[in-house]
Amino acid sequence: MEELNGKIALITGASRGIGRAIAYELAKKGAKVIINYKGSEEKAKSLAQEIEKMGKKAYLARFDVANSQEVRNEIKKIEKNIGNIQILINNAGIVRDSLLLKMKEEDWDKVIKTNLYSIFYVTQTVLPMMIKERWGRIINISSVVAFTGNPGQTNYAAAKAGIIGFSKALALEVAGRNITVNVIAPGYIETDMTAGLPEKVKEAFLQQIPLKRAGLPEEVAYLAAFLASEKANYITGCVFHINGGLFRD
Ligand code: NDP
Repeated sequence: MEELNGKIALITGASRGIGRAIAYELAKKGAKVIINYKGSEEKAKSLAQEIEKMGKKAYLARFDVANSQEVRNEIKKIEKNIGNIQILINNAGIVRDSLLLKMKEEDWDKVIKTNLYSIFYVTQTVLPMMIKERWGRIINISSVVAFTGNPGQTNYAAAKAGIIGFSKALALEVAGRNITVNVIAPGYIETDMTAGLPEKVKEAFLQQIPLKRAGLPEEVAYLAAFLASEKANYITGCVFHINGGLFRD
């Protein structure tokens, strides 16, 4: 029997990048996956088709994770039409980089709303389903910059550090319900988010990485799939670094 057979998993921001790879990996391991996206409808549809070609189940759910009402309405529909979500991967995220002195308030707000408030909206709506199931896995995607900082990313680093405090507190609240909460903090991973960086910045990053290469979305997905499985029953409230040695705790 496959590890995640019968489980229902919601992955936010699964149309591209890390979220896409996680959705694919969880589906491969037998979970029914719900692919959340905001703008990239064609990409979300093509992922669903790829998963169905493997003989697995995938559903699409368009909602903006930064919009509390949309989140609550769409997740209620999922509960009614698909069933109780047992695995939640809070992955959707954006960057709006700028030095603090020049940062526009809207870029601060947008990053905090999309990367941090979203975790509150989505998790609060999904949690009662996990409580009903007496089993749950919550995996939140933070970043190495929550630990190291990065110039031009005060908004992003603040949101990503906030995710860690949130996860540690929630892990204690729900441990008695057989629900685990963990964080993955990736380093430099090859996705659209990093593709836009100037070559010079990319080179500088690569020089600092002991393994001398960027990570792949699939490598993050393997870790997420392990944390989502029964094999990780005794792990909660932890942060997992996956960064080629760039930062070690
Ligand atoms: P990408 O930019 O490649 O993909 C972002 C995904 O998030 C897309 O699927 C996008 O959907 C979705 N998304 C963005 N805003 C929203 C929103 N408001 N509502 C719903 N979905 C949304 O990013 P990555 O795959 O690189 O990043 C994934 C996560 O990993 C993020 O949280 C990021 O901060 C984190 N991370 C990434 C690192 C990296 O090096 N790449 C390093 C450390 C952390 P759509 O296109 O449909 O709008």
